[in-house]
Amino acid sequence: MDAERGTVRSAPSGVRRPAAPTAGGRRTDAPRTETPRAAAPLTEAPRADAPHTDPPHPGTRRPPARLPRSRRPLADLPTAETTSPWILMYHSVAVEKEDPYRLTVSPERFAEQIAWLHRRGKRGVSVRELMRARAAGRADRLVGLSFDDGYADFARHAVPILQAYGFTATAYVVADLLGRANDWDTEGPRKTLLTVQEVTDLAAAGWEIGSHGLGHQALPGLPADVLTAQTRDSRRLLEEVVGGPVTGFCYPYGAVDLAATLAVRDAGYDYACAIAHSPLTGRYALPRCYVGDRDGAWRLRAKRGRHRLRDTVTELRRQRLAARAGRLRRVP
Ligand SMILES: [Zn+2]
Repeated sequence: MDAERGTVRSAPSGVRRPAAPTAGGRRTDAPRTETPRAAAPLTEAPRADAPHTDPPHPGTRRPPARLPRSRRPLADLPTAETTSPWILMYHSVAVEKEDPYRLTVSPERFAEQIAWLHRRGKRGVSVRELMRARAAGRADRLVGLSFDDGYADFARHAVPILQAYGFTATAYVVADLLGRANDWDTEGPRKTLLTVQEVTDLAAAGWEIGSHGLGHQALPGLPADVLTAQTRDSRRLLEEVVGGPVTGFCYPYGAVDLAATLAVRDAGYDYACAIAHSPLTGRYALPRCYVGDRDGAWRLRAKRGRHRLRDTVTELRRQRLAARAGRLRRVP
């Protein structure tokens, strides 16, 4: 399993109760009590097997208007609605001797990465806060921070560093494995998971808790009733733990297909995190940027650029597929 697919391990202990994440002394991401909004429409989902082509190179001159849409320069492409927010994907923040999946970032490296964001005028926030700010048109300086699997070291190592900068984050936990270990990760070292009490405390302190399903199981290909359990039941379980709405979902291993996105939407979630860009990219398949222990400033800058490029390529593919579908509809 490569590093861009979720999982991991480690051995933190003595998790401290975190204080509320603040900005200027005010809680910025406290859970809301209202019910999540009605299911939002998915973005159009072109065929997943549609052929992919390379994007055109951006040109300095505007091409003739008669050029097909797929040849338009990148600068002409719409951006406000079609770009994805930048969301960083972490798993474990700890010191590990073995890390075969490269999913552990040392606390020192993590502090460097967070400091780098802060120096660039960015503020790390939960994905919930990011999506709300984006809807209000004020997400320019925000970066989503997500932590998959719900490792206990999130509270022990990540939270104090994030608090020092007034940042927030989302922890996606496996609803039926709280207090246990990452037994799904057979080849990596064992890592303990946040307990029920720790998740309750994190939520009470304002950290977003999202669902990572049940049993850390990939969703694509599951029968409809199992998909429903993975999404709806995991949400119900976690809402009892956090005492409020759980509106974010994160696909185990980043694995997603159309049926999974529909199940997540129908279960009442407001958004869902995937990993890779795909034809499903949108509110229920948000792409995320893997961050590892090797990622210093220049690699983070490069990954930011790569994210933007992938957004552009994804949109180009969408436009081509939409155009192709339009041509097909016109054929008698
Ligand atoms: Zn995971």
